[in-house]
Amino acid sequence: MTIGAAFDATVAKFPEREALVVRHQGQRFTWSELAEAVERHARALLALGLKSGDRLGIWAPNCAEWCITQFASAKIGAILVNINPAYRSNELEYALKQSGCRWVICADAFKTSDYHAMLLGLVPELAEAKPGELACERLPELRGVVSLSATPPKGFLAWPEMQQRAGEVSRDALVERQASLQFDDPINIQYTSGTTGFPKGATLSHYNILNNGYMVGESLGLTEQDRLVIPVPLYHCFGMVMGNLGCVTHGSTMIYPGDAFDPLTTLRAVAEEKATALYGVPTMFIAELDHPQRAEFDLTSLRTGIMAGATCPIEVMRRVISEMHMSEVQIAYGMTETSPVSLQTGPEDELELRVTTVGRTQPHLESKIVDADGKIVPRGQIGELCTRGYSVMLGYWNNPQATMDSIDPGRWMHTGDLASMDENGYVCIVGRSKDMIIRGGENVYPRELEEFFFTHPAVADVQVIGIPDSKYGEEIVAWVKFHPGHSASEDELRAWAKERIAHFKVPRYFRFVEAFPMTVTGKIQKFRMREISIEELT
Ligand code: ATP
Ligand code: MG
Repeated sequence: MTIGAAFDATVAKFPEREALVVRHQGQRFTWSELAEAVERHARALLALGLKSGDRLGIWAPNCAEWCITQFASAKIGAILVNINPAYRSNELEYALKQSGCRWVICADAFKTSDYHAMLLGLVPELAEAKPGELACERLPELRGVVSLSATPPKGFLAWPEMQQRAGEVSRDALVERQASLQFDDPINIQYTSGTTGFPKGATLSHYNILNNGYMVGESLGLTEQDRLVIPVPLYHCFGMVMGNLGCVTHGSTMIYPGDAFDPLTTLRAVAEEKATALYGVPTMFIAELDHPQRAEFDLTSLRTGIMAGATCPIEVMRRVISEMHMSEVQIAYGMTETSPVSLQTGPEDELELRVTTVGRTQPHLESKIVDADGKIVPRGQIGELCTRGYSVMLGYWNNPQATMDSIDPGRWMHTGDLASMDENGYVCIVGRSKDMIIRGGENVYPRELEEFFFTHPAVADVQVIGIPDSKYGEEIVAWVKFHPGHSASEDELRAWAKERIAHFKVPRYFRFVEAFPMTVTGKIQKFRMREISIEELT
């Protein structure tokens, strides 16, 4: 099945139920209203001359048009290229050039970035060209840019004007196009979060992501009665696959609380929309739990949700269950390259397993844990996690070498994450292999230390990294964020740790911070922390 066909099936089943709520734009759509907007946009995209397989970039924070574009591009078979809203000129150029975008749909601005100015800086020819007839050397494939603004600068095609072009293409032409698509056609290029370095473009098919969205929704037990708050970015698979496709395949309502994550607007959206489910990465849940106004919001409608994307501290899981009423909250593990989810806790799992593991392999997928030679390690031992099955990407866009380096001839995706699997198939993620610290010949797993420091009453969040050291090879640095109104000195923390853990795991350095360097998905960039600590300490 293609994404367009799945969308149509839900529209036919629940035409009058609420499909999408975009709180910061004050917009609400039933499935039939959303279908109308999607069809109009799909015909307008055809009018722009987009063929199946052409790349269509979207560079915008969460908004109604993002969702409409996701389904419209799927209907016409244009490969949607998700461009990170936080990108600046250099990264934007890289993404547009690397994917060979023919058209881009952009917001006018986001936070401190003026998107129009950035695009005009990158492609000055834009100002003079007729939309659709752009020719520039720097981005030879780019034909034009659609702006979500109603009154963009000269050279941009305004969204309302573009929508009018739908009239140039018949409904039948769209039906024909949709029917000609194959379920295993590429439909999406998603750049990875850039947690460990430069983002890579994972090429995903309808089959990859539609099935994954469906499976995630199944695991949560979503139905047309569910209302899911999506504060995670749509440009990332957490939003567009686990969020939008999870809802579309189950008739559930998608609720966007804001254009970027904010704990207060998220809590308010849950309360006012009587949401049943909520997504987030751990740092988002921590911000919600610690928000001074949390008690003002009635969160009792919540039932379930997913915490994923990074190590989920046990303490935070427990608080989400007890203080945010998410009794069925699940943990998921995955990566952009696997559509994304490959492991997930299930509703039947006991609390202990739900807070200490990332669950078991999703239906129709396989997992294995291997040593450096690719041999499967005994149960309980740590090795690299590998995933195989329907969810593994087609490859990195235009980068066969990187694809070969990560997907082996047996079609196993090597995740770069260290993990162990117990007798019953439950997996514990230990961390990224790149983040493991080897101090004086001893392996130190940052995750273990982070969980440990989390139990200190003053500590709100903590990240542990290794930096080069001439004596021990590497030394341990802990970055610590305190709960509001709490603190502890370096000596206190060190003494507290010395009493409780082996001496070689006690961090040599502590750094007290208000925030960690983060991607817009809310993921902590340890490589940046490492750069900063190396600069300061060595
Ligand atoms: P890049 O590949 O660009 O460095 P990234 O790996 O963070 O960035 P994503 O594809 O968004 O990009 O994230 C996948 C990674 O997130 C996984 O490989 C894993 O390290 C981490 N991750 C995801 N879910 C979990 C989880 N539940 N527990 C621990 N880590 C997780
Ligand atoms: Mg990655």
